[in-house]
Parts: sequence; C-alpha cells; structure tokens
Amino acid sequence: MDGLMMDFPLTLAHLFERAAAYFPDTELVTRRPDKTIHRSTYREFHARVQRFANALKRLGLRPGERVATLAWNSTRHLEAYFAVPLAGGVLHTLNPRLSPADLTYIMNDADDRILLVDDVLVPAWERFRKDVRPQHVIVWGHGAAAPEGTVDYEALIAPELPVFAIPRLEEGQAAAMCYTSGTTGRPKGVLYSHRALVLHSLASALPDALGLSASDVMMPVVPMFHVNAWGLPYTAVMTGTKQVFPGPHLDPQSLLSLVQEEKVTFTAGVPTIWLGILEALDKAPKAFDTSSLKVMVVGGAAAPQSMIEGFERRHGLHVLHAWGMTEMTPLGTVCRLKPHLQRRPEEERFRIRASQGLPAPLVEVRAVGEDGAAVAWDGKAMGELHVRGPWVARSYFQNPAEADKFTMDGWFRTGDIVTIDAEGYMRITDRSKDLIKSGGEWISSVDLENALMGHPAVKEAAVIGAPHPKWSERPVACVVLREGARATENELREYLEPLFARFWLPEAFVFVEAIPRTAAGKFKKSALREQLKDFRFAGT
Ligand code: AMP
Repeated sequence: MDGLMMDFPLTLAHLFERAAAYFPDTELVTRRPDKTIHRSTYREFHARVQRFANALKRLGLRPGERVATLAWNSTRHLEAYFAVPLAGGVLHTLNPRLSPADLTYIMNDADDRILLVDDVLVPAWERFRKDVRPQHVIVWGHGAAAPEGTVDYEALIAPELPVFAIPRLEEGQAAAMCYTSGTTGRPKGVLYSHRALVLHSLASALPDALGLSASDVMMPVVPMFHVNAWGLPYTAVMTGTKQVFPGPHLDPQSLLSLVQEEKVTFTAGVPTIWLGILEALDKAPKAFDTSSLKVMVVGGAAAPQSMIEGFERRHGLHVLHAWGMTEMTPLGTVCRLKPHLQRRPEEERFRIRASQGLPAPLVEVRAVGEDGAAVAWDGKAMGELHVRGPWVARSYFQNPAEADKFTMDGWFRTGDIVTIDAEGYMRITDRSKDLIKSGGEWISSVDLENALMGHPAVKEAAVIGAPHPKWSERPVACVVLREGARATENELREYLEPLFARFWLPEAFVFVEAIPRTAAGKFKKSALREQLKDFRFAGT
C-alpha cells in the first residue's frame, strides 16, 4: 500500500556501520592472557572485521554455514561477532567449560566448518580435536607460532582488503547460535536471527531495561559464549559504547583493577562473580576506586538479596537483577523499581529488587498453574512461566525432541516456576526442569543419576541442587545402596570423575533408605528437596 514504511531489514550490518561512522575513536580494550592491555577503536575494528570477512569468503564459507569460537572475552571475539554474520555465516560460540564429550557432540551437531580458538584454550581443544572435523582451525595467538594444522589469525587477515562487500542479508536469517543444556540427553541449539539481535539490542539499551549509552563504559564479565554475553557486545556496538573485555582473568582483583583503570560504568555477570567481588571489597574497601560504576547487572541465577544489600549499604554500588534464557537471546525481565515503589521502606525495596522484575518491552509473559489457567497476580500463586516475543526461539536447531516446550498457541515453556505480584513483578520460586545451575553453568541431574546407577553398589540415585553461598547451587547426590553392598562417598566420586567435567561432580553424597516417588513412579524431587531443606555443605 502507498504511504507505508520502506522495507528496511533489521541486520547487524547497520549496527556495524553506525559504530564506525559516528564513534570511530571510541575504545575497545582487552586484557590479554599475559595480563597486558590491548587498545583499539571502532575505526580499527571496522577495518579488521572486513579483512576477516574477506578471509572467511576466501576460505570458502558459504551462506548459513557455522563458524565456531572457543574463546574468552576479547576484541578479536567481537570481530568474529560481526565478521561471521556479515559474511552470511552463523557465529557459534562454544563453552570451553563443557566436557570434551559435550563439545564434540555440539560441534558435530552444528556441523561447524571453521573453528576459532584462543591460544590459551588450545589445550581444551586438544581434548576433543580428534573427534571433530572443522575444515579450518584458526588460532587467536599472541606472537607464538600457530600449532600444527592451524592458521594464525593475524597472518590470515593481514593480506586481506579492509573493505568487504556485505551481501544482501535478510533480517530473518540466522546470525548466531548457542547451545543450552538438555534436561535429559543432549544439548540443544538455538539460532538467533539478525532481526532478533537488533530488536534485542534496542530493547536492552532502554533506560528501564539494562540501559546503555554512548557515555557508558561496558565490561561484560559474562562470557561471550553465554548467550552472546547476554547480547551486550551487540548492544554496545549499536550505542557506540566503549567496551572492556577481561580476557581469561575473571578473579576479583583483575576485574576491579579494570573497573578502576578503564572507568567502567556498566558491567554484567552471574552471582558467583559478584559474590567474589563483594568479598574482596569487604576485605579491602579502599583498595580500588569503583566510583565510576553505575550499575552491575546480575543474572543467570538468582541474585541473593543479602548480596544486593551488601553492595549498596557497604560500598554504595548498585546491583540490577535480570532474568533471561538462551532461548530468549536472552533478555526476559529486569528488576527496576517503578517510581512509586522507590518511596517504599528500604527493607521492602530490597525485597522487590531481589525478584526477577518486569518483562522488557516486546516480551510477554504468563504464569500457568496446574489447571492450565493463568495464575492470579497476587505474589503467592505459583505457575510455570511462559514467554513469547520477537527474540524468543520457536524451536530448537534440528531437534524435535523437546518440541513440547513450544506450545501450540505460540508460547515457550521456560521450566521456571514463578509468582507474579499485583504490580507485575515476577519472582522465581522453583524450577521444573531437572537441572542444577552452579556458578552460572548447567549440570544435568539426570545424567549424574544415570551414571551413579551404573555403579554396582548403587540401587537408586537422585541428584538435586542445594543452595550454596558461592556457586548459587551445588549438586547433592542422594544414594540408596543395594542390600548388603557398600560404597563410600570417595569411591562414588572417583567412579564419576572420568565421565564428567570436574564442576559436575556432586559436592556431597547423602546415603538414604529410599527416594520419594510420585504416583507415576518417578523421583519426586520436590519432596527430596523438602527433606534436605536444612542441608548445609561442609565448611559453609
Ligand atoms: P540459560 O539458558 O543458561 O541462560 O539459563 C536460563 C535459566 O537460568 C532460566 O530459565 C532460570 O532457570 C535461570 N536463571 C537465569 N537468570 C536467573 C535469575 N535472575 N534468577 C533465577 N534464575 C535465573
């Protein structure tokens, strides 16, 4: 119809060109593995991304093909965030903390054609190298010769032209992908379209969402392999914001020194990171100047109220609690107080701020009770959270197995159990998915149970997550031994050791007579959690 808007695809190409045109001198800072600082600008970034995109084409990357990264947060990783999708490919970030078996499965499932590896993560890659078949492996090195069978990134891009003819990109085409844990069985891939990433960046930058501007200095502590560092590097390119990448050094001293030296205003990460920082600040409140910090976004697991209070009361630092998921690019809700709530007593304000908050614009939520109807907004009735919106996945990549998570009427079932109060603030109270989140990383209880039940002395085993002061949750294995059989905690741990990543191993084993079951004969995890509600890990 005449008089309507032009057909303007929402793609990362626009964000990319905008940063270089209007913010060419804005800095990109990375802490290298040897702890020295690397500085560049959006101007240099713009040229290097185009060189890299030309190199990807020369290597034969075809539209829609996946390019994997195994890397910490760095400016080079940001180059891949743009070069791969601008060349028509799909950026697939791998989590180096996963077990070699999971990394093998994920790379093969995604059919990654090219792999980019940080030199410091080459040993992690060596552990599954023989089981995967990328056509090219490119190493992000620091002067040393690239290992045999790999190409050095700088040598690869140096001869290329700094001008790349971006092909016509459709907003609906995939730009990036991440895998998330399956409750049972294999990890599942989620594809992010250009449109989803652009709209997500726009909404995320709004002042009542995460809020990002060209005047900020943004340090993503959340890894770039965790849902694109929550989309923040894309958002920051859109807003022309200076970015500070901590590389492999995520200890409190390294992070606090970056805050001080780079005058970071905005940072984001999981509770385990902030709990470590709070401890460091409590021990030595004056050791670092943190006065530039305006907001610390906490998500990925519940932010403890005592942590939010501790930062604010003892150090004048503001924590902003947010909730999201891999399937949601990931932003779902943000907890900012509505103006009239800001006038409530301090105690109540902190209580609300520990909830997961209100949905970002364009995200719709509903909490569905056991009867299938939406629960009342009374802060008490519990229901499973369903979400929908332009950056919510509509299926998993090549995986019909968990199709029931996507409802017939267009909602995604999150597996989080929530209440919603009269103001619309959502609070997570439980999780229906059989997973444990430790330090921001998933652990499958079912996989641990199945492995434990393979031990000759074990009759039954159920694994639940128990609250942990540092890791948010840690796995506790409840074990029923066969009649007459014996096994110690150490024996069981040693039995699991070769099968899982170290952080998966149960923190504690509890020997029980029986495991509570539902009428259908399944383990009743809610009853088990209730039985163990006073459980404390040794030394906590
Ligand atoms: P992921 O897909 O790995 O980002 O994990 C998403 C899941 O992590 C959610 O469905 C929640 O179970 C949990 N989660 C994320 N953010 C929070 C939060 N702020 N509070 C409590 N749980 C969270």
